[in-house]
Amino acid sequence: MIKMINITKVFPNGVMALKDVSIRIRKGEFVFIVGPSGAGKSTIIKLISREILPTKGYLIVGGKDINLLKRKEIPYYRRKIGVVFQDFRLLPNKTVYENVSFAMEVVGASSKQINKQVPEVLDMVGLRHKAASVPSELSGGEQQRVSLARAIVNNPEMVIADEPTGNLDPETSMDIFSLLNEINRRGTTIIVVTHADSIVNQMKKRVISLDKGRVVGDQEKGVYNL
Ligand code: ADP
Repeated sequence: MIKMINITKVFPNGVMALKDVSIRIRKGEFVFIVGPSGAGKSTIIKLISREILPTKGYLIVGGKDINLLKRKEIPYYRRKIGVVFQDFRLLPNKTVYENVSFAMEVVGASSKQINKQVPEVLDMVGLRHKAASVPSELSGGEQQRVSLARAIVNNPEMVIADEPTGNLDPETSMDIFSLLNEINRRGTTIIVVTHADSIVNQMKKRVISLDKGRVVGDQEKGVYNL
């Protein structure tokens, strides 16, 4: 599904964030990306979400070179991807329900689809009873579950998450990873950048390790090994 081929990324300030990185991720995989701060993890996430372009190399997603997308094609490309952030990025003045339904409205879903899908995903993340709450009334773990619901409500092909549990305690983090695992079991490709070493070791998924812009490890059922 994703082929990164000899990708190098040099930022305008001269920092080489990725050096000749080649990674293949198949449809339906669950992949952890780990590495020390500054290793290039977020840069990979931003390349896949087409926020930035590589300096060299190809990035093929679903058979298409996404570096060649025209500006007006980018929003359609992004519909394939649900994104989850460390800081949740919920709309503070909207309810839980509205935070999720808004993601469907912006892609032009019908109210019939919205009325069906939103309660379903809120059920899945265990927050149907909080549908009328606003984010400030929720715990961090609950807010992240809303952001997961929002990420999957349009049935994306993949979910990418950059440090999704960076602000959460270990127990709450495990809940979020269990949900990501459940989403993966339903067929969605998952790519997660994380520092949650004990959870990575428990989950026995593919682990890609980066250091100083290079891939230094890539193991099926890998461990967090830095
Ligand atoms: P990680 O996510 O592994 O901590 P990043 O991908 O964020 O690492 O960053 C890799 C390197 O690129 C770091 O040295 C960082 O300072 C640099 N970098 C990231 N984004 C930018 C940017 N927009 N401009 C300049 N340098 C950047």
